[in-house]
Amino acid sequence: MCRCVYAFGYVLRFCRSPLPEPIPLQTHLSPEFRDTLDGQEAEAILRKCVHCGFCLATCPTYQLLGDELDSPRGRIYLIKQVLEGHEPTRTTQQHLDRCLTCRNCETTCPSGVQYGRLVDIGRQVVEAKVARPAPEQRQRDWLRRGLSSPLFGPAMRLGQSVRGLLPASLQAKVPARRDPGRWPSRSHARKVLVLQGCVQPSMAPNIDAATARVLDAAGIECVVARGQGCCGAVKYHLADADGGLAQMRANVDAWWRHIESGAIEAIVINASGCGAMVKEYGHLLRHEPRYADRAARVSELARDLSELLPDIAAALRGRVKAPAGTLAWHSPCTLQHGQQLRGGVEQHLGALGFDLRPAAQEAHLCCGSAGTYSVLQPELSQQLRERKLGHLMGERGAERPTAILSANIGCITHLQAGTELPVRHWVELLDEALQTPR
Ligand code: SF4
Ligand code: SF4
Repeated sequence: MCRCVYAFGYVLRFCRSPLPEPIPLQTHLSPEFRDTLDGQEAEAILRKCVHCGFCLATCPTYQLLGDELDSPRGRIYLIKQVLEGHEPTRTTQQHLDRCLTCRNCETTCPSGVQYGRLVDIGRQVVEAKVARPAPEQRQRDWLRRGLSSPLFGPAMRLGQSVRGLLPASLQAKVPARRDPGRWPSRSHARKVLVLQGCVQPSMAPNIDAATARVLDAAGIECVVARGQGCCGAVKYHLADADGGLAQMRANVDAWWRHIESGAIEAIVINASGCGAMVKEYGHLLRHEPRYADRAARVSELARDLSELLPDIAAALRGRVKAPAGTLAWHSPCTLQHGQQLRGGVEQHLGALGFDLRPAAQEAHLCCGSAGTYSVLQPELSQQLRERKLGHLMGERGAERPTAILSANIGCITHLQAGTELPVRHWVELLDEALQTPR
């Protein structure tokens, strides 16, 4: 009932009705958080929320569980309570854990509530106050340290060499090894830095090589800076802000020499999860005198690979033989909600002759991958994957796709574990369609 009243209020507001505006949340932060940077940022976000409940309809966990505390509005209340001095419990922690950080609620919210920032802050606070059972803690520690460790690559290669002997559950996390092919050696006046990240070079090295070949064919040279590594998202979103920020500073340092030289025009990221994170460096490092300006510049220069598609498509027109058949397109949450980039891949690949078809329904919903979520919340994650794969197959009677395309290594690996259909990065298919030797 209450929700209807606020929703009705909003409709009237957009119609310039003289009725009162919806009332933003009132906050009274406890002294522990009132004067902290995170506390102040969280309070400003909380005060934008008018508890209208529009976001509930597009929240995957609310759709699956039907519990308001597993919705954006419910989690906002939980975080508000914690920041106002209520002791969080394991239940509070679990409701925050179940959030995918897909940020679909941000796209839906008419008040501009930056829920993603709020939940990161809330998780840090709760993590410091609520102990986890030892096995759960060990799993999270392993993910924080293991995914960005230099040992991840050798471990993945070892797993790939015995992949056929692994149990099905592990096989799904160890993609078959694929020859990445040559890395172009031509120099071009147009140069971009490329982020290789932590897991992608070991799990799917073809994605970076295909990126370099496609950009080369379009007259753009890829530069890989020595010393760059994980974008920081894994640690940051697992409530290890210090660890995540240290990785962000290391990337800023690794890129700065190239940026300062004026030789590069962008930092190109072909994993949308990493791209969403790099675009936040400027905000997250804004209070650090040594890094604030540099991080802001890095975020200004950060581009998802699809943002270069207008140039790429123009340069490659007439030089591409698109594959026959329909390709299902899954836009990752970090692309469509985190970076607010929608429609570009479909439009520009379509202009090159590719037949891309987004999910018939719920194209805005998460596939359940969500970084480490598929490991930490396997049941919910698998339910979302089944739902997504069903919609990607199309309506009854529709032509079956020959492959699923996406733009993030996490989504690609996760979806591949649930289907026999090949799941690829769009740039890999564009690379294969080039009418020049690979
Ligand atoms: S987050 Fe936005 S959509 Fe959700 S309840 Fe608050 S104001 Fe409404
Ligand atoms: S980020 Fe996604 S899962 Fe989390 S509250 Fe928002 S819509 Fe729901």
